[in-house]
Amino acid sequence: EAKRAGGARHLVFEAAMRERAARRADIEAQLRTALAEEQLFVMYQPVVGLNPDGSTDYSAGVEALVRWQHPVRGLVPPFDFIGVAEECGLIDAIGDFVLERSCLDFMRWREQLGEAAPRLIAVNLSRAQLAQPDWMAKVAAMLERSGMPAASLQLEVTESLAAQDEHIQVRLHELKSLGIKLALDDFGTGYSSLSSLHLLPVDTVKIDRSFVCKADTSHHHRVLIEATVKVAQSLGMNTVAEGIETQAQADAVRAQFCAKGQGYFYSRPLVSTALVEWLGAQR
Ligand code: C2E
Ligand code: MG
Ligand code: MG
Ligand code: MG
Repeated sequence: EAKRAGGARHLVFEAAMRERAARRADIEAQLRTALAEEQLFVMYQPVVGLNPDGSTDYSAGVEALVRWQHPVRGLVPPFDFIGVAEECGLIDAIGDFVLERSCLDFMRWREQLGEAAPRLIAVNLSRAQLAQPDWMAKVAAMLERSGMPAASLQLEVTESLAAQDEHIQVRLHELKSLGIKLALDDFGTGYSSLSSLHLLPVDTVKIDRSFVCKADTSHHHRVLIEATVKVAQSLGMNTVAEGIETQAQADAVRAQFCAKGQGYFYSRPLVSTALVEWLGAQR
């Protein structure tokens, strides 16, 4: 009886695996079409400076976030396709597209907006991108081509990625030697800790939304944010609070001297033209 139940479970498991594999293959094929037919685009979410005098610097920066406008499924969020893209090798092409688009848009904003243009653009990186042997040369060439100043580009990696093997660490140091800034994304959710922050060659620590969303209501979360900001500051690193949704959360992270903030409270991710309008409206 037990054996039969186990067998049934096994069949259910196999069917689920097959379905998963088929779904992946389907997304992969559609992603190839998406790249070829330019269904991918980039949205930009403002990252604001939380000035010590209580004012807000709306031109501090933006984060580039990839989107997929699927002809049938509509707008697909990165969570639904970045993983598949990483597994099938398409992340290289997607990453190149996002980086190039971001740099070109950044340079255009500078022309259109002058002083009000964002001073920094953050682009998310996947492990596979860093592992490409010719990637560093590609990035250098792309900076050259677009005229993008390296110091205005911030590449974001997750804790688990940054803490990985020596090979990745070497790559991160190479990026730094180009003058590019590095940020540690989603800090607090991975396995590295405050005590190992000094080992990572990053300029900025982005405090994960799961802490920020309780900054105003939970003493525990407030203390963690305070500690992160203090340690980061002592290492000469900047801090960004991710996912600020309310005035109370903005006030709470400001009170902990977090230097920058990002979240729906300030703005949702915007297409380039909407970002230009948003920045213009803040003046
Ligand atoms: P992330 O880098 O941590 O980006 C922040 C995510 O939080 C974005 O989700 C953004 O839309 C969302 N967010 C911002 N403010 C708020 C808020 O106030 N409340 C809530 N609930 N969410 C907020 P998105 O665009 O869906 O991206 C999810 C993740 O996908 C990113 O997390 C990043 O890890 C990855 N990703 C996005 N674009 C790219 C890309 O071009 N390349 C790679 N490799 N990964 C990307
Ligand atoms: Mg990010
Ligand atoms: Mg993040
Ligand atoms: Mg996050």
